[in-house]
Amino acid sequence: MAELVLAADLGGTNLRLGVVDESGAIIARTQQSTPNPRDGVAIVDAICKLAEGLIGEAGPVRMFGIAAPAVIDQSTATVTASPNIPGLNGMRLAEVVGSRLSIAATLENDANAAAVGEHWLGSLAGATNAVCVTLGTGVGGGLILNGKLFTGADGTAGEIGHICVEPDGVSCECGSRGCLEQYASAAAIIRMSELESGRGVFALGERLTSQSIYEAARGGDQSALQIFNAAGFYIGVALAGIVNALNPEVISIGGGVAEAWNLFIHETRRQIDLRAFQQPAKRVKLVRSRLGDNAGLLGAAKLAFEQIGNAVPTDR
Ligand SMILES: [Zn+2]
Repeated sequence: MAELVLAADLGGTNLRLGVVDESGAIIARTQQSTPNPRDGVAIVDAICKLAEGLIGEAGPVRMFGIAAPAVIDQSTATVTASPNIPGLNGMRLAEVVGSRLSIAATLENDANAAAVGEHWLGSLAGATNAVCVTLGTGVGGGLILNGKLFTGADGTAGEIGHICVEPDGVSCECGSRGCLEQYASAAAIIRMSELESGRGVFALGERLTSQSIYEAARGGDQSALQIFNAAGFYIGVALAGIVNALNPEVISIGGGVAEAWNLFIHETRRQIDLRAFQQPAKRVKLVRSRLGDNAGLLGAAKLAFEQIGNAVPTDR
């Protein structure tokens, strides 16, 4: 019988779980809204309840891979910072969930998991050196180097969203200023549009969302177009540095803001070509992510498969 793993993608809005086979097929899945992000106990309870339901439906699993929007110290498997889900701070989430379910569990940052998912089955398949950028509520990044997820000395590598693109720029939740996340996330698109208030579509006084700004830009509104162009500029500034430092073959860009691909990618490409060395700039392809909302879940599953054999079963 084919081996199965359980995977979870814990986001600030939704909690998704699936049972995945070795080919990457999701054979059972479920989801719910993420419980109160400040209540770590409620989050653990929700993960365990959904997990038990799925195992009942799909049969036993060998391992549980969890992706979470958090900085994780892999030496102790502890969440060291989770601005969107503060209830996880300081928690050894994999150990807590794994011992409740009597399944060995592994924990990874959600953007790193998305990179692994895209490398396994999506836009980065076959690449040896690749970068995955997720433009969502925040900006996430994951690095595939020499064919494997690169996590750095402590497991915190890949935070492309917190590369500085404006030294004296907008302050960021991470404690720094001018991070890419402040110029290219969905929240940043809204913030930048507020600076444009009174002009173009922004004179209407309605509550803006990144979607409504996107619609305005698609309709030809110059102020809205300018905002996506600015986002493209900052993404390009950050990626030009990445291209020089890592010489990747391909960079995939996904997440909600990437829906506006045609409105920003030209400026991103232009900045890479202007700023990076000629050879790595010419080499790097910019592509759209392919797995959408499944990237983190499938990446968590792949990491779980990789851990089978290394893992020590937990005792209840
Ligand atoms: Zn930051």
